[in-house]
Amino acid sequence: MKKPGISSTASIATRRGSSRSQRSVSKPPQIRILFCHYTADPGGGSDRSLFDLVTRLSRDRFAPSMLLHPDDPLVPRYRLADIPVHTEPFVPPRRAADAAKLFRFASSLIPSVWRARRIIVRTGTDVVHVNTLYNIQGGLAAVLAGKPLVWHVREIESGSRVGRIFLACVARWAARAVAISYAVGETLAACGPRRRVVLNGIDPDRFAQLPDPSSIRRELGLEKSNRVVLCVGRIEPWKGQHVLIEAIPAVLRACPGAKFVFVGNPAVNKPDYLPRLEARCVELGIAGRVVFAGVRNDLPALLALAEVVAVPTATAEPFGRVIVEAMLAGRPVVATAAGGPLEIIENEETGRLVPPSDANALAAAIGKLLADPEAAAAMGQRARARALDGFTIDRTVREMAAIFEEVAASRGI
Ligand code: UDP
Repeated sequence: MKKPGISSTASIATRRGSSRSQRSVSKPPQIRILFCHYTADPGGGSDRSLFDLVTRLSRDRFAPSMLLHPDDPLVPRYRLADIPVHTEPFVPPRRAADAAKLFRFASSLIPSVWRARRIIVRTGTDVVHVNTLYNIQGGLAAVLAGKPLVWHVREIESGSRVGRIFLACVARWAARAVAISYAVGETLAACGPRRRVVLNGIDPDRFAQLPDPSSIRRELGLEKSNRVVLCVGRIEPWKGQHVLIEAIPAVLRACPGAKFVFVGNPAVNKPDYLPRLEARCVELGIAGRVVFAGVRNDLPALLALAEVVAVPTATAEPFGRVIVEAMLAGRPVVATAAGGPLEIIENEETGRLVPPSDANALAAAIGKLLADPEAAAAMGQRARARALDGFTIDRTVREMAAIFEEVAASRGI
């Protein structure tokens, strides 16, 4: 999985661990880390990945605290986990599509950065962690406070002007730029040796024993005889739900009992996409075969229901947590062959990869799995073994901890 020219963290962790133990036997002080995070669409992968990381860091060694948007639904869960939470009503730059939104972003920028800087200084923060490329406020606040910055990039951004500016800020300001996949890492080449790849990890225990899906089956109006294809993710064009919709008629010709469950909320800035999907289902005469289930927090039960999981991303998925979650549940995944999925799935071995935006290829790959449940189950088991081997949250936490240690040590902490 390691790509030449981009450091993964394993070797660094080993080196630092041994030199530290030679230097001192007394307990080192805690490293105080302020995690700065907000998104335009809370509840997605970046929120969940951050929560999984922060709540698992060793409290012997690290003292985490959060700087979040006051409306972040995870605020109570961080507090429950005994992690102090500060709030700031950050305005996302991605909403700056029209003049009014641009004005809101621009006029909030300096006050937000200033307040964030004050929190960094007041809390005696040693290291600032900024989650997602677009959190420019957190990055700027860390620089103004003179604190080392670990910038965790979770997007593949290369085209837009705003994206290019933010990537330049990462390259200039970050003590370490962490990418969640090698595909994301490639966009951080300008960071040189400060670039790291720490693959996202998932808690395998959550998917070890799948619950009985009877009640969720009833709730979603499904029959026991339905063969369920599951698609989980924010409903927005780049996630490619439209590609799966176009594939459905061909899948149904091969497997008339199939039903397609879409899970996730519409992205805030793409409210018209879901109605367009629904209208297209009516046009194709497949509305009765499709369930839009909205946002859900019972993924293990949904996976228990599913025979195949589709991840039809229309461009390149930066990572694809849902792929690993399905694999841990022993479900075969059909995903787009671009970005993160290429690093997670070995084609035909631990899942199937299809070209982006190719509804025919997607339909054929799903149909093949539905036609041969035994082969699909065997693929699911191989997928589970691979996910357990390379994509667990413990590994992610270990590698991130090594990066925080490294950055703190460079400042003599
Ligand atoms: N998710 C969920 N319920 C939903 C929609 C998404 O639990 O209704 C979870 C999903 O299981 C995954 C995460 O949100 O853990 C989405 O992460 P992914 O990397 O797949 O996509 P992203 O949101 O980062 O683009």
